[in-house]
Formats: sequence, structure tokens, C-alpha cells
Amino acid sequence: MASRISSSPEALRRELITLLERLEDTLEYGEIREQVRLMLSARALLRTMGSSVIDSSEARSARERILAYLKANVRTPVAGDELAMVAGISERARRVRELRSELGYAIVTGRTAVEMALEDDSLKSIPGIGSVKVTDYILLESAPDTDAATRWTRANTIRRKDTSVRSRLLEYLRTYVGTPVSGEELRYVADGATEWASRVRELRTEHGWPVVTRTTGRPSLDVCVYMLESDRQLPEHDRRIPDTIRIQVLERDRFSCTDCGWGESSWHKADPRNHLELHHLTSHADGGENSAENLVVLCNVCHDQRHRSDIDAL
Ligand SMILES: [Zn+2]
Ligand SMILES: [Zn+2]
Repeated sequence: MASRISSSPEALRRELITLLERLEDTLEYGEIREQVRLMLSARALLRTMGSSVIDSSEARSARERILAYLKANVRTPVAGDELAMVAGISERARRVRELRSELGYAIVTGRTAVEMALEDDSLKSIPGIGSVKVTDYILLESAPDTDAATRWTRANTIRRKDTSVRSRLLEYLRTYVGTPVSGEELRYVADGATEWASRVRELRTEHGWPVVTRTTGRPSLDVCVYMLESDRQLPEHDRRIPDTIRIQVLERDRFSCTDCGWGESSWHKADPRNHLELHHLTSHADGGENSAENLVVLCNVCHDQRHRSDIDAL
């Protein structure tokens, strides 16, 4: 067996053909058990062949081969069976989890992508996402995130809490205000609850938490990524602005504050301005509508200022 590891795919192919020819005779005259045993040998040979297609100088272990294969197909759904083939083992799910939580690779599972696609249009920019299967995997970035191990440990602590899916999701997002969090992490915190993606959306649309994605206000974010922009809930009157209107207003005002001009590109740690909000020119209380004409983009600081001067003017 050890000698086979170093065999070339071509040598293995020839070996397989010899085996299949033996199978031809056996199928005609042999016993069923003999046939089955030959098929098993052929399967083992195919597996060895699969793990030989990636050069051993490039990847030495099953995990490294899975990584090399995913890296050659960044942002493309890859079937779990393909990974099993190059890995040469059946434990691919565990190897993928290690790559994700120990080494920090942003690997999205097909299941997460399918559940997320129902709520998040940003995924549509990935080729083949329309036909993604729950057994697929997608590597988003070829470089790992070095902070990942800490994050997964935190996610695990929150996941184990005996609280609702929504409050666990919120707790995790609030741990990382202003930092992108992947759908995969949120799904894990929800402990696999299939409605995790709609709960995340409701945090924004019903509970007023400024959770944004690439398609709901932060075009600079990656796909499959969410971000809680600020650790505060929007006032009731700002919550039910439809996404289409929000995007329309943000685009019209060029993603910058109409009072001071602040935009995400001028973000600085020491600056209290850290995200953009929508402000009603005529407030709901005075009959103002959630229409583009009645909304303007303000940074969080200018927005506070406007409301303070409203109160002062009373
Ligand atoms: Zn401003
Ligand atoms: Zn306002």
C-alpha cells in the first residue's frame, strides 16, 4: 500500500484496467463474492488515484489536498464527492471543519449557502450558486483569517447557551460590532436551526439592529458576510424602511453623510463616525413617509445631532 502513494496516476490507471479486465471474466464465470471483492479493490484503487492527482510536494495530507483543490476553485461550488476523491478518505466533512475553524479558511457549506440565498441576494454574484447543492463547499478567499480560532471558540460558547436562536445570533453579532461575520459562523451559533438567516434579517427589519450585507447597505462587504454596524437599535420609526428604498437613498446620496460628507472610505478608529443611517426629513409622527424623497443619508454622529436639535427646538 505504501508504494502506491507514490505511484503516478497513469500507473494506477493501468493497474485499474488490469483489474477491470479480471472483473470481466469473473462477471461471466465467477462467484458473486469474488466479483464484489474485485469491485472493492477497484474502488480502493480509484481512491488512491484520486489522492495522487495533486502532487505530493504540493500537499502532503488529506487536509492539504482538500485545501489545494478548493484554492484552485475559489468562489465556485465544489461537490463534497470531489473533495472526498482528492482526499482519499471519507472524513472530508471533519477535514473541512478543521480548515475552517483551526486554520481560518472561509469555507461555506452548500447548506448554509442554500439557506442564506433565500435571504441574501449578494450570493447571486457567485457563479453556479443557483444550482448549489447542500453537499457542496465554496472557498471564498484563498487567504485564511488568523483570528478564526478565537472566533469559533466564542461562537461555540454562545451556541451552547439555553437562549433563543435570535438572542444567540444577536449576542454573537454584538461581540463583533463593526467586524464582518460569516453566515457560516451565524449558522453555527444558531446550532443549525434552518431559520437562522431569516432571524438575522428580522434583527434588522423588525428589531432595528443595523445588520448589513453587501446588498443591504454595504457594497464593500464580501458575499456570505454580515456586519452589525453599531451596537444600538434604530428608533422605531426608522425600522420599517424597505430595503429597495434604503439602497435607492444610499446610492442617491453616494454612500456618504449629506451633512458632513463622511463615508465608509474615511473610516478611522478614533473617529466616532462609523456608519451611515437614514433620517426622515419629516418624521413619522408628523406624517412623514418611508419614501426616497423623505429620506437622507447621515452618519451616526450627524444623525444624533439632528435629533438633538429637534429636541432643543421644542
Ligand atoms: Zn455626518
Ligand atoms: Zn432620524
